[in-house]
Amino acid sequence: MGLRDGVRARNESAWLLPNDGTRTNHRLRRDMRRFADGDEIDLVIVGCGAGGSVLLQRLARSGWKVAALDAGPFWDPDTDWVSDEAGSHHLYWTDPRVIAGADPVPLGSNNSGRGVGGSMIHYAGYTPRFHPSDFMTRTLDGVGADWPVGYSELRPYYEQIEQELPVAGERWPWGDPHGYPYRPHPVGGNGEVFLRGADKLGITAKVGPVAIANGRFGNRPHCIYRGFCLQGCKVNAKASPLITHVPDALARGAEVRADAMVTQVEVDERTGRATGVHYVRDGRERFQRARMVAVAGYSIETPRLLLNSSSGRFPGGLCNDFDQVGRYLMVQGAPQTAGRFDAEVRMYKAPPPEVSTEEFYETDPARDCKRGFSVQTVSPLPITWAEHVAAQGHWGTALREYMSDYVHWSCLGALCEFLPLPENRVTLADEKDSCGLPVARFSYSQCDNDRALARAAQSVMEDILHAAGADEVITIQRYAHLVGGARMARDERHGVVDENCRSFAVPNLYLTDGSVLPTQGSANPALTIMAVAARAADHLIAGASGGTT
Ligand SMILES: Cc1cc2nc3c(=O)[nH]c(=O)nc-3n(C[C@H](O)[C@H](O)[C@H](O)COP(=O)(O)OP(=O)(O)OC[C@H]3O[C@@H](n4cnc5c(N)ncnc54)[C@H](O)[C@@H]3O)c2cc1C
Ligand code: SF4
Repeated sequence: MGLRDGVRARNESAWLLPNDGTRTNHRLRRDMRRFADGDEIDLVIVGCGAGGSVLLQRLARSGWKVAALDAGPFWDPDTDWVSDEAGSHHLYWTDPRVIAGADPVPLGSNNSGRGVGGSMIHYAGYTPRFHPSDFMTRTLDGVGADWPVGYSELRPYYEQIEQELPVAGERWPWGDPHGYPYRPHPVGGNGEVFLRGADKLGITAKVGPVAIANGRFGNRPHCIYRGFCLQGCKVNAKASPLITHVPDALARGAEVRADAMVTQVEVDERTGRATGVHYVRDGRERFQRARMVAVAGYSIETPRLLLNSSSGRFPGGLCNDFDQVGRYLMVQGAPQTAGRFDAEVRMYKAPPPEVSTEEFYETDPARDCKRGFSVQTVSPLPITWAEHVAAQGHWGTALREYMSDYVHWSCLGALCEFLPLPENRVTLADEKDSCGLPVARFSYSQCDNDRALARAAQSVMEDILHAAGADEVITIQRYAHLVGGARMARDERHGVVDENCRSFAVPNLYLTDGSVLPTQGSANPALTIMAVAARAADHLIAGASGGTT
């Protein structure tokens, strides 16, 4: 069986999309199965993003009665998305969140997504794997945590998801060296600058991996290199669960219930088992019964929902007997360095992250810190570019000059592995949202190791751009990619879920999103989140026949 046939036998999503120039299979949505609140379905999933949608698709394929409730809309790329930076704000989760700590992480703009497809609707499409070392940083480096699963157990799921998105890239020499199902995309101006500078310095840099169709895939067209990946790809070339997993789930009998904000996971005080979820839709409070519950609401909203689901049995929050919920929330340090060139670069003409190096990913004894960083092209569009320049302190005439010079700039970004610390956590704030629920308060502070990594990454990026011929470089400090907050561990004193994403406290409650990651590496997390969810799905499916659930 060929690669495409193999994928199609497992997940037919790309072939279920229309091939008439429109982007949404309206018939599938219209004819979607709809469960009644009173039906006891097999599994209700909170959140239809990276982790939730993979679980939904896998279980629907296995005949489970399964529904995913998402707080946001069921997007139609043709009518809901625009090729305009300012006009894409509605893709983000902008409900209030409180930030605190010595180094607070700005939230409320483009940190996480809202709606079917989750944050992958507006993610950049870069999909590297974690390295084997990421699963055992405590043993290897004395920092972070060891996962209760190893890389080798996740590898088959990485391979499956890479085929289903599908991922295009050069053979990857770092971590566990591997190839990708599709050849790398042609390189844009920003990538050329990176490759030139890296080559001068003897740094290996590679093209990909991007989850962007390179050639037709099913009914999904080839990328047209319009650079709007972060605004939602109207072409359907960039992978997101909306097109990679939801269509197949619907065709196999799953329900996706959009605009449904889950407010509480209900647990039977007598049995200690989850019985369903309370949610608000069209202003009405409702309750969906289910035999099992999975939460996949993103690293801020998942801990928030657990904390908001306190009860007589769990007075401090659901699954929080050992004060683990909300802790070890991580964010990658993401300094961004821009360089100016006399020749035009036109960095917008390509997927934003396209070329990267993982040469600095692991602990280097020559550096005064543990773990490492990756460097990728980032290619901001004009508004984001203005933010970069303004963050440097430029304003008024100077800002206008930088803006009119936009096509001459190249931009690189690092992802630094900031360490998981127990005090970096989500708790509940006094402030309430429109449903009357306490919003999340996220407190974040860096440690010395984090700051040392960011300095090292900045220095490498500035060297690369200078080596490529930049006559001016400017660097700003930022953050990227939140994960953790309800991590997996070997026991309930060190985490919230086990290696199969099953909560220690409630036997029929699972968490299948980025919140379960114990470490973050220097890789973008979506592929790993999907792989972890696919593995959890196999565990559930095996349990249904083997009785472990
Ligand atoms: C600007 C940006 C660029 C990024 N680029 C990349 C990249 O290039 N590569 C990469 O790997 N990662 C990238 N990421 C990160 C990646 O998108 C996320 O890590 C990933 O999507 C998180 O998956 P998740 O399943 O945890 O949550 P999500 O995908 O965010 O899904 C959570 C879903 O739950 C819903 N939800 C939340 N609470 C509730 C509730 N109470 N009731 C009902 N529904 C709820 C939300 O509406 C959302 O749809 C990027 C992120 C951002 C913000
Ligand atoms: S660059 Fe390609 S993947 Fe990104 S928005 Fe454009 S068509 Fe979609």
